[in-house]
Amino acid sequence: MRKIFVMILIFLLNLTSYSYSKEIKKIDAYKRIKKDNHVNILLITLDTTRADKIGVYGCKDVKTPNIDSLARSGIYFINAYTPVPITLPAHCSIMTGTYPIYHQVRNNGNYVLDQKTETLAEILKRNRYVTSAFVSSFTVDSRFGLDQGFDVYNDNLLVNIKEYKSERKAEKVFEDFSQWFHKNSTEKFFCWLHFFDPHDPYDPPEPFKSEYESNKYLGEIAYVDYYVGKTVDLLKEKQVLEKTLIIIVGDHGEAFGEHEEFGHQIFCYEENLKVPFIFYAPGRIPENLTSDSKVNLIDVMPTILDFTQLQIPDSVQGISLIPMIGRNKMIHREFYIESIYAREALGCAPTEGIIQGDFKFLRLPKPELYNIKTDHKEKNNLFSKNPKLSRKLIKCLDELIKRYSSGKFDSQSKLSQEEKRRLASLGYLVGTKSSINTQSLIDPKEGIEGYNYFLKGTRFIKENNFEEAEILLKQSITILPSFPPIYSRLADVYLIQGRKDDAINLFEKAIQDNPSAHILKLEYAQLLGKLNRINKSVDILKELSELNLPDIGSSIYYILGQIYLTKEKYSQSIDYLNKALDLDPDNSYIKKQLALALYKFGRFKEALEIYLKLEKEEPMNLVFLKNMAILYTRVNEYDNAISYFEKIISIYPDVPDIYYNYACLLAEKYKFEKAVFNMEKFLKLYDKDDARKKKAQDYIRRWKIKNIAPCENYVYQF
Ligand SMILES: [Zn+2]
Repeated sequence: MRKIFVMILIFLLNLTSYSYSKEIKKIDAYKRIKKDNHVNILLITLDTTRADKIGVYGCKDVKTPNIDSLARSGIYFINAYTPVPITLPAHCSIMTGTYPIYHQVRNNGNYVLDQKTETLAEILKRNRYVTSAFVSSFTVDSRFGLDQGFDVYNDNLLVNIKEYKSERKAEKVFEDFSQWFHKNSTEKFFCWLHFFDPHDPYDPPEPFKSEYESNKYLGEIAYVDYYVGKTVDLLKEKQVLEKTLIIIVGDHGEAFGEHEEFGHQIFCYEENLKVPFIFYAPGRIPENLTSDSKVNLIDVMPTILDFTQLQIPDSVQGISLIPMIGRNKMIHREFYIESIYAREALGCAPTEGIIQGDFKFLRLPKPELYNIKTDHKEKNNLFSKNPKLSRKLIKCLDELIKRYSSGKFDSQSKLSQEEKRRLASLGYLVGTKSSINTQSLIDPKEGIEGYNYFLKGTRFIKENNFEEAEILLKQSITILPSFPPIYSRLADVYLIQGRKDDAINLFEKAIQDNPSAHILKLEYAQLLGKLNRINKSVDILKELSELNLPDIGSSIYYILGQIYLTKEKYSQSIDYLNKALDLDPDNSYIKKQLALALYKFGRFKEALEIYLKLEKEEPMNLVFLKNMAILYTRVNEYDNAISYFEKIISIYPDVPDIYYNYACLLAEKYKFEKAVFNMEKFLKLYDKDDARKKKAQDYIRRWKIKNIAPCENYVYQF
């Protein structure tokens, strides 16, 4: 009996000492956080990266040794949320510590972060940090306002100009970052690296492509991890890793059909919202900590400021996580979540919601309530089963919105149609409010079916299966009648099949059904232009231009300019393009068209002036450089033309056209030897056996005997 008593006593003592030592460890961990206003700050945002697709977060199918190692040597939060599953607004929330309803950037493309907002970079710059950002997608281009406070904002997406790509790979981001870093590693820095690769389309380079053949999304994440590793190595090499706070966060997740969405922008389910969230600062943040407390991207800024002992602005809506680190105490939090993408792009109802404790409520035409602790997959809608809780959360959501909305900022932009198209090429379908019939907003749960039909239909077009494409696009219209891109896509199908009248009737009916959808009229006018029904097209555009529509005003003039350009009515074209440029002075698409119109009209000097400005914006742009070389020959400034050809060759040594044109110019200027040299270069690179090749050989033969034989035409023109 006594023996049993002693055993129980020992057992109880063990229990107490166990929990006691664990508690000590936690308190120690907190104490061991050393705030430091001398550290560098490296913020890495992983675009489109789901938390559960990172090794340390439990994914067994991906290798992310570098991110895992940083997480294990610091702290990683298991339950980290984005307030919005859309790239630009999510990054604005990271940089301002506020919700989209405060900073007012609610979607990609149509919004620019207001200059009046106070950003992390601005505060750090004021506190003598050198600041730099290296971003990889047009969605966070400097024109959208995230460049505030950065000494260097490198959004040079057109480094590899051949395809006019709107994104760049991690390799390029790293390349530009390391160039900057070699010069600045001794300064106290704040640097933001943005890796866009895991975004659709999933196309990792080798060896990741082969290794992740069956899941290329994971391949993209593994590829980005590799460059996270290279970045850490570089910090190590420059001996600054030990004094750098590294923060790794995702901007939003990615859905793979769990709730019918493929992508991330429409819904606010866990797959769209949960992101990796890691803090690493060797010697300053204890190692090997995880936390299941719910945290949010709006906490990034206040945590960094707290860590560096800088004042957190009153406007910040997130909290510093420093007091939470090491104390495994769940703090009661509630988050506001939203996506207005479905409304702006698809004409469906937007989503707004609240996460409170274990519950998530989504306000929609058909509202949803989930217990996200027990029902991770959000399949069991408790809204009507638990009316009391539903009512409570609706009230809390209303209070959250009231508390966090600002109304102070004007973050709406006047993005042109051309820029929207560029976004659309990334899969971002940017709509306008004017295209939406607000009376009949359907639940995105229903709209998603139409959207998926649209995506499938688009895929069929690419595969030249026009019959299937037509069926699917028509189905899509029945569900999403206010979604303009479907009409344009279906009209394309009709045009390919020579069914011009069907294309016209389609738009006529759509406009009748959606009389306030100006974008449809704009698309229709463009279609009529393509069909050579210029008068009607111009009538529609002129009618639209009288409405003074801020979001599409410049596009209207731009299209008018284009129509007159193809009609070879250059003077009118130039007038309209100038009007477009007045409304949208930074738009490089309009500038390019205007330069072309001026060139065609023989106003070379003015065209050249525009290109000199464009070149400043994109100094590596091959097309700009080529056109400038040509323009200099037109204004008889041959030395300048020659120096441009030389410049192009030094940057892009493998473009055959350049050598051909350059050789022709040199021969015209009696520089036969150099002309022969360049034409031979052309022949080396030119792999076709055609008339051009013969002509080049003939030129060489004649130039060798100093026969001028001027080229009839330059190979490339404007
Ligand atoms: Zn994103």
